Amino acid sequence: MTNVRDDGQRRHVFIRTYGCQMNVYDSDRMADVLRPLGYAIADAPDQADLVVLNTCHIREHASEKVYSELGRLRDVKLERRAMGRDLTIAVAGCVAQAEGEEIVRRQPAVDIVVGPQAYHRLPELLAEAARKADLRRAGKRLPGAGVLDTDFPAESKFDHLPAPQGVRAGSAFLSIQEGCDKFCTFCVVPYTRGAEYSRPAAAVLAEARQLVASGAVELTLLGQNVNAYHGEAPCSSAGEATWSLGRLIRALAEIEGVARLRYTTSHPRDMDDELIAAHRDVPPLMPYLHLPVQSGSDRILEAMNRRHGRDLFLRLVDRLRDARPDLALSSDFIVGFPGESDGDFDDTMRLVEQVGFASAFSFKYSRRPGTPGSAMPDQVPEAVKSARLSALQALLGGQARAFNASKVGTVVPVLFAEDGRRTGQIIGKTPWLQSVHVDGNRRLIGHVVDVRLTEGHANSLAGEIVVRGFEAAA
Ligand code: SAM
Ligand code: SF4
Repeated sequence: MTNVRDDGQRRHVFIRTYGCQMNVYDSDRMADVLRPLGYAIADAPDQADLVVLNTCHIREHASEKVYSELGRLRDVKLERRAMGRDLTIAVAGCVAQAEGEEIVRRQPAVDIVVGPQAYHRLPELLAEAARKADLRRAGKRLPGAGVLDTDFPAESKFDHLPAPQGVRAGSAFLSIQEGCDKFCTFCVVPYTRGAEYSRPAAAVLAEARQLVASGAVELTLLGQNVNAYHGEAPCSSAGEATWSLGRLIRALAEIEGVARLRYTTSHPRDMDDELIAAHRDVPPLMPYLHLPVQSGSDRILEAMNRRHGRDLFLRLVDRLRDARPDLALSSDFIVGFPGESDGDFDDTMRLVEQVGFASAFSFKYSRRPGTPGSAMPDQVPEAVKSARLSALQALLGGQARAFNASKVGTVVPVLFAEDGRRTGQIIGKTPWLQSVHVDGNRRLIGHVVDVRLTEGHANSLAGEIVVRGFEAAA
């Protein structure tokens, strides 16, 4: 395939990302794979020759959104064809993995379906899709419509991906672990992302150095179950066959230029001593931890196959706060899991009151086909789920507001990441991942600057830059 279109214009790709940070990382890597084929990034589907929907399957409405978007793209494709041009449509990510051929059956305009472990093969898939399109234009009848690759290949995609390009605003994601072997009974991840895999520590360190050389000062280590990390140790590390996440974090913190480290998403069961000690000993490791608990009821945690109870979680919180007293906690909650009684839900509310979260995500249980939870008796009625979610979100929202308010009046380092809505306004993140809006020069984007926090809101804070001299020099 040439890197220009028949009309001599450069090809463009538009990538729409749904779901979690792993998908944001994968979308960036897909752009890296497509760049050598001549694809520039488009800001909207109507400017693109190729549209990739990088999808999420975690809850039902997430995948339904994909099908509505595909309907709109089919219309764009038909308009294009009427003008003698084409639009290639690819579905990537977890819906692609879970639904495979069903996607092309429901929406025949789709050209490519590629799973999360196979997108390094996009160049071959695009060539195959182009060949099929040529044959169809020549009047040949072909058996299957789209080109499909939802294998879990024996080789790791990481060995085939080009080096990551373009760090946005000083912060970069770094995928270190993928897949999951935990099989929580509500979750599709073990089926869509496959078995747990940890990248070798040497590969992670090399990518980290490269990201820092391209301007990253903050690295967020990603994995569906990131603290299950057990990557092969570098050859220089005598006597250790594998490194845990805690060990890896210590090594990453030694890279010159790494000012901030974060990791997500963790499982309570995998918070080991070495990782807790890293929270105490490694200054760049930010005092913020996203630690999903899902429920405060032992009965429901067992039905969810979470492999931890309420007490283990509460003891863990105490140990983490002993190690790092300013640690802010965030979590995920599911309400209305099958069999959840008023008493079980009450246990969740009590746990939230006891722990105090700085932020949280909470969801109504969504039945995912193929997971054990979807076949359990005593599914909870929608109205009950909605009422429980409102009560939980009111409690969590109050805690988030109180946490933000507790920081007003303090001076904190903020990593600026983007322009604000107003001209002259920029937005950054505190060590506790709170958004802060200030009036400041956009040249500060990508830098860590001290900010005095002046106002706390439900989801953000306002502040003013303390070291004005830096702004002038930046
Ligand atoms: N690995 C993480 C953990 O152990 O909790 C979770 C990763 S999952 C991709 C993100 C969140 O989606 C989960 O923590 C859970 O709260 C939510 N989730 C997953 N499956 C769900 C379902 N079937 N219904 C509602 N929420 C769900
Ligand atoms: Fe899903 Fe997380 Fe449970 Fe794995 S540990 S099955 S990713 S919820």
